[in-house]
Amino acid sequence: MIDLHVHTWRCRHAEGTADQYVRAAASCGVRTLGITDHLPLPPTLLDRIPSAREYAMPLGELGEYVEEVGRAGDLGNQIGVEVLLGIEIDAVPELYAHASELLSRHPFDVVLGSVHFIDDWAFDDPELIGRYEDWNLEDLWERYFGEMIDAARSGLADVVAHADLVKKFHSHPTGAVGHLYAFAADSLAEAGVAVEVNTAGLRKPCGEIYPAPAFLRELNRAGVPATVGSDAHAPGDVGAAGRQAVQALEDAGYQSVVIYRKRVAEEVALSDI
Ligand SMILES: [Zn+2]
Ligand SMILES: [Zn+2]
Repeated sequence: MIDLHVHTWRCRHAEGTADQYVRAAASCGVRTLGITDHLPLPPTLLDRIPSAREYAMPLGELGEYVEEVGRAGDLGNQIGVEVLLGIEIDAVPELYAHASELLSRHPFDVVLGSVHFIDDWAFDDPELIGRYEDWNLEDLWERYFGEMIDAARSGLADVVAHADLVKKFHSHPTGAVGHLYAFAADSLAEAGVAVEVNTAGLRKPCGEIYPAPAFLRELNRAGVPATVGSDAHAPGDVGAAGRQAVQALEDAGYQSVVIYRKRVAEEVALSDI
């Protein structure tokens, strides 16, 4: 199994050291582990949204994080787990320049691009769930998908993470959303990014893998490569529902996944993970 999306204690809302994740991966059969903590957020955003300090590691810790993952890689070499140096970035326009500068400092293997903010609202934070009432859900989904497509086109990320995160609290519009899936799939294909089959949705109110089955079928139709991530926030969730992720990929017509090393994609047959 592979797992290209996990978070450590450094992001202040997850637990476990990089070494603990590697040991957990070894014991549950994850052979390739991407450690992908959140890239530090820029001071301007933290000034505007003080609660965002709990969404990512502080700016001064990025170097220590890279070193910690490097040491975990040494441990992985001894116990049969390949460790990839990853990072998850908030790919919203305001953060592009900041993210691009930080990404250039270290030899990342894989960069996940995510949208967690609509303007100043961290729409996936359970404490801010009341703000869904301020939105017409059709408008919210259109806005979210627009931001997600911009993130894919930004050139910063290799993989779009949890591509339909907007459904986390089961906030589906009443109307059909197939046109959003189709347009997003074509846009991701054009942008040359992959999509992640993220099993965290199964542990959230929506109770469904990101992306939804109909969306994943569109992504496969458009030729967007896929990878797998648990989005674990504790070592016990490494590789969570990995077999369900593979099943979702098969159901959508995929026969392979991609793994990134030094930001170069390598295809691996589904039967080999
Ligand atoms: Zn995320
Ligand atoms: Zn994440």
